[in-house]
Amino acid sequence: MAASTRAERIESRERNPKWRNVPLRIEMSECINCDACLRHCPPQFGAIFNHSIDVIIIPELCSGCDKCLPPVCPVDCIYPDPDWKPAPDDWWQEPTTADVY
Ligand code: SF4
Ligand code: SF4
Repeated sequence: MAASTRAERIESRERNPKWRNVPLRIEMSECINCDACLRHCPPQFGAIFNHSIDVIIIPELCSGCDKCLPPVCPVDCIYPDPDWKPAPDDWWQEPTTADVY
């Protein structure tokens, strides 16, 4: 049952172990900060945030549902991240503060 809801994932900082797809990552050197992906990430995942000047995906919250990919992202800068690393501590401030979901 661990990490089956978004709140549990935020609390435990764990992905849902049942998710089959790898999380996605935003290539910051290509992203134009349009925020379109942020509006299209389903609320039950709520994985994308504005973080300072960057737009980020917290991999532990990203199911790999692909709803943020083109045509949503106009520059196609969101990629599968099979070698994902745990999100840094400061990224985890975003789900608990600026909650857009
Ligand atoms: S793949 Fe789905 S869950 Fe992951 S960031 Fe994109 S829209 Fe959100
Ligand atoms: S939709 Fe693409 S370009 Fe726009 S903020 Fe998201 S990753 Fe960046």
